[in-house]
Amino acid sequence: MDLTYTDEEEAFRAGLRDWLSLVLPELPAKPSPQDWPGRRAYDTAWQRLLYDAGYGEVHWDASPTQRLIFLEETEKAGAPYVGANFVGLLHAGPTIASEGTPEQRDRWLPPVLRGDEVWCQGFSEPDAGSDLASLRTRAWRDGDHYVVSGSKIWTSHAEVADWCELLVRTALVSEAVPKHRGITWLAMPMDAPGITVRPLRTLAGSTEFAEMFLDDVRVPVANRVGEENDGWRVTMVTLSYERGTAFVGEVVACRRVLGELAREARGNGRWGDPALRRRLGRLSAEFSALWRLTQWNVSEAQRTGGVPGVGGSVFKLRYSHARQELYDAAAEVLGAGSLDLAHEWTLDRLSSLSYTIAAGTSQIQQNIVAERILGLPKGR
Ligand SMILES: Cc1cc2nc3c(=O)[nH]c(=O)nc-3n(C[C@H](O)[C@H](O)[C@H](O)COP(=O)(O)OP(=O)(O)OC[C@H]3O[C@@H](n4cnc5c(N)ncnc54)[C@H](O)[C@@H]3O)c2cc1C
Repeated sequence: MDLTYTDEEEAFRAGLRDWLSLVLPELPAKPSPQDWPGRRAYDTAWQRLLYDAGYGEVHWDASPTQRLIFLEETEKAGAPYVGANFVGLLHAGPTIASEGTPEQRDRWLPPVLRGDEVWCQGFSEPDAGSDLASLRTRAWRDGDHYVVSGSKIWTSHAEVADWCELLVRTALVSEAVPKHRGITWLAMPMDAPGITVRPLRTLAGSTEFAEMFLDDVRVPVANRVGEENDGWRVTMVTLSYERGTAFVGEVVACRRVLGELAREARGNGRWGDPALRRRLGRLSAEFSALWRLTQWNVSEAQRTGGVPGVGGSVFKLRYSHARQELYDAAAEVLGAGSLDLAHEWTLDRLSSLSYTIAAGTSQIQQNIVAERILGLPKGR
C-alpha cells in the first residue's frame, strides 16, 4: 500500500484548487432541499461546468487516486455535492463503463458526464430490500423488447430522472433457477408509457425518493447490460461502487462540519463543557481514521484494477454511524436552536438517520464483514 501522492497527482490537485477558487464565487445560491426540479437543474449545471473544464470524467477515466483528490478538494472548497447526479455518476455510470457494450457506453456515458441526463436506481421492492434477490418485478420477452410489470420503492431521484438502472426477474425461481440466477439489469427510459412515479416525503420534508409502479413497460432488449439472467453479477459491480466509493467525498465534508461545530461552540459558550470537547475530539479521531481507511481502499482498488473491494462495507458501516454521531453532537452544540428546521445541521441530522439503511443496512454490512472478511460461518 502506498499512501503518498506523486508529483503528477499533486499538480492535478493544484490545478483543480485554482479552478475551484475561480468558479465557486460565481455560483448561484442552492435551491431549497424541498425543490427537486430546482435541485436537478442546479446539480446538472454544476456537472456541466465540471465537464467543460475537463473534470467531467474524473469518476471513470481518472485513476482512483485522482478521483480521491477530486473528492477531497471539491468538498474542502465547499463545492456543490453530486446530488441528483449521484446514481448516474457514482454507480450506474461506472457499471455501464465496466459491463456495457461499446454502443451502450457511447449512448449513456457522455450525457451523464455532461449533466444532460439523470439516473435513478430501481432495485428495492416492498418485499425485497436487504434480501434483494427475492425481487418480483417481472419482465417477459416480446420480440426485441422486454415487457416489465411490478413495483419498486425508495427510488431516489425518480421524480426527476431520465433513466433507471432497473432489476427485473426474467426467469421464475425453481429448483433449477435459484433466486440469484433469474435477474436481469436493464436501463429503463423514465418517459416510457406505463410508469407511474409517486413521490414519498421524508422526515426532512424532501421528496428525494418515490414509489414506482410499472405496468407493461416496454424496454428494448438492447438496453440490457450483461446477459439475460446474469443481472446479479452486474448488480454486485453496481453495489461495490455504491458502497465502496460513492460516500467517500462526504467524509471530507464531515471533517469540515466538525471544524465548524468547534467554532460555533467556542462562540456560544458550549466549548466550556469538557464532555462536549471530548466528544468532538473523539469524532475528529474517528473521521481521520475513516479518511485513512478510504485511502487504503482506494490504494487497494488502484492495485487490483479499479473496482472497490469488500473493504467498502467496513467503510459504509462505520461512516454511516459516525455521521449520525456528528449531527447528534451538532444538536448539542446548537441547544434549542437544533429544533429550527431551517438550520442546515438540523436537516442533515434528520437525513443522517437514513444512512444506516440506504445502500444496505448496517446489519447487512456486518454480515458481509463477518462472512467475507472475517471468514465466519453464514448466519442464515
Ligand atoms: C435514503 C434512502 C435512499 C434509498 N434509495 C434507494 C434507491 O434509490 N433505489 C433503491 O432501489 N433502493 C433505495 N433505498 C432502499 C434501501 O436499499 C433499502 O431500504 C435497504 O436495502 C433495506 O431494505 P428494507 O427497507 O426492505 O428493509 P428490510 O430488508 O425489510 O430490513 C428490515 C430490518 O431487518 C434487518 N435485516 C434484514 N435481513 C437481515 C439479515 N439477513 N441479517 C440481519 N438483519 C437483517 C435489516 O438490517 C433492517 O434492520 C433507499 C433507502 C434509503 C433509506
